[in-house]
Amino acid sequence: MIIVIKSGTTTAEIERISEELRCWNITPERTEGRNKVVIGLVGDTAEIDVRQIQNLSPFIEQVIRVNKPFKRASKEFRYGEPTEVVVPTPNGFVTFGQNHPVVVVAGPCSVENEEMIVETALLVKAAGAQFLRGGAYKPRTSPYAFQGHGESALELLAKAREATGLGIITEVMDTSDLDLVAEVADVVQIGARNMQNFSLLKKVGAQGKPVLLKRGLSATIEDWLMSAEYILAAGNPNVILCERGIRTFDRQYTRNTLDISAIPVLRKLTHLPIMVDPSHATGFSEFVPTMAMTAIAAGTDSLMIEVHPNPAKALSDGPQSLTPEKFEQLMQEMAVLGKFFSRWTKNNSPTATPKFAPISSTVGV
Ligand code: PEP
Ligand code: MN
Repeated sequence: MIIVIKSGTTTAEIERISEELRCWNITPERTEGRNKVVIGLVGDTAEIDVRQIQNLSPFIEQVIRVNKPFKRASKEFRYGEPTEVVVPTPNGFVTFGQNHPVVVVAGPCSVENEEMIVETALLVKAAGAQFLRGGAYKPRTSPYAFQGHGESALELLAKAREATGLGIITEVMDTSDLDLVAEVADVVQIGARNMQNFSLLKKVGAQGKPVLLKRGLSATIEDWLMSAEYILAAGNPNVILCERGIRTFDRQYTRNTLDISAIPVLRKLTHLPIMVDPSHATGFSEFVPTMAMTAIAAGTDSLMIEVHPNPAKALSDGPQSLTPEKFEQLMQEMAVLGKFFSRWTKNNSPTATPKFAPISSTVGV
């Protein structure tokens, strides 16, 4: 359920309403949007009559019941106000959100050694990316495949960050590694295979770094939003949803099937920002540019693209990795389309201050 407060209502009155609600054993969560204050109610609200709440105060404009299993992730919970995930990086603030330029995240599948990660970081930065991606802990189907260099790779990511000022996105697979990963990562990634690792979701929800939540291999949109709900419910409002392709019947000519319709569907259902990963979705570098452009046309807020200085020699996901040259070319093509949709800044660079103040979401008012 959400309560929309009339404009101009005093903080004292909002606090009084919240206090009354707490007496009914429901947790009020206040969201201050640009135009409205909204109080989301989480808990057992099924028995509560909308009129009972309406009668609490003349300053209540509207009471809306959220008829979906995901509450905090639902569009209604913020009264349609899109979440902006504002990430401080050494180069400045980068904002993931519907009313912002498309954010580009690029880099290799795995961090292999210092030279390759720093070189890749410099090249993707020069081409206009704002974030470097690279796995230290790799979820691999085979236990005999390269598993990532772990902790030492995190140190290399920190060096690449220092050399370029790019933000870092890297995956955490195990709750026991979270502190180490979050120390280096500006955004912590939950991989597709861990989308329903609920203890991991609760842990990333209870720490302060933004979370990139990839869609599970066979997850429905509702499964995915329920996983986002775990992170939001644990207190972390900064979640980005990444569509990375789902399993369908054709695995011969494409690794997965990019569900491009997820973009408008998520836009309808949730306030959270959206990312598309055409690399894992297609599995072949030759298809990546087409799908990246398609994702921009469909309204994605960001893209994650695998780039390797020598894809033929990559320790993981070489076939889907672009060379730095191909990536640069794609960035130029994406700039044309991004500008057409007014979602590309001059050089897509981070800003010294957030373009807009981050919208706070305060648990428990
Ligand atoms: C990755 O981004 O490195 C990765 C393993 O992707 P996914 O979890 O989407 O398979
Ligand atoms: Mn990969």
